[in-house]
Amino acid sequence: MTTEAENNHSTTDEVLRLFRERGGSQYGGEVVTQLEHALQAATFAERETATPALIAAALIHDVGHLLHDLPQDAPDQGIDDQHETRAAVWLASRFPPVVVAPVAMHVAAKRYLCAIDADYLGQLSQPSIQSLALQGGPMTRDEIDCFESRPYFQDALRLRRWDDAAKVVGMVTPGLEHFARYLDRALESEE
Ligand code: FE
Repeated sequence: MTTEAENNHSTTDEVLRLFRERGGSQYGGEVVTQLEHALQAATFAERETATPALIAAALIHDVGHLLHDLPQDAPDQGIDDQHETRAAVWLASRFPPVVVAPVAMHVAAKRYLCAIDADYLGQLSQPSIQSLALQGGPMTRDEIDCFESRPYFQDALRLRRWDDAAKVVGMVTPGLEHFARYLDRALESEE
C-alpha cells in the first residue's frame, strides 16, 4: 500500500518530469519557453511571499499547455487550446482546490481584468490579446458579478498578474528543484 507521502512525491515527480520533457517548447508566440515562463511566475509569487499553494499554482498554471499536442501557434489558426480546462481536469485528481481553482480561473481572470481595468489591456502582450478574442473577450457585467463571487477569485487575480509579467527574456530564476518543495507542501494542504 502506498502512503500519502509517497503519492505526493510521485505527483511532484510527475510535474517535474513534464517540465523536463516538454518545458523547452515556446510559450505560445511569446519570447520565453514554457519552463522559463513557469519559473518566472513562481519566482514572482515567491517574492510576494504567497502561500506555498499559490506559489505551486503559479508554477503549474500552464501545465495544460504541456498536456496537448496542438501546435504552439494554435491561436494564429483560430484555435483556443482551452489549456486552463485541460489543466484543471489533470490537476483536480492530484492537487487540492486551493491550487486547482486559481489555475482553472486564470484565463477568466484575464477577461475580468480587461473588463474592469482600462490600463490592463494595454499591458498585455500581442499573443495574449490575440488569445483573448478566442477566449470570449472582456467579461460582461453579469460575468464580472459571477466571477467576484467565486472562491479563490483574489488568488486567481494575483496569479494572473504574475502570469502576465513572466515573459522576461534572460531573467535569472531558481530552478525547478527549488520549487519542488512548494508542490510537496501544496499537496499536503487541507483546503
Ligand atoms: Fe501563462
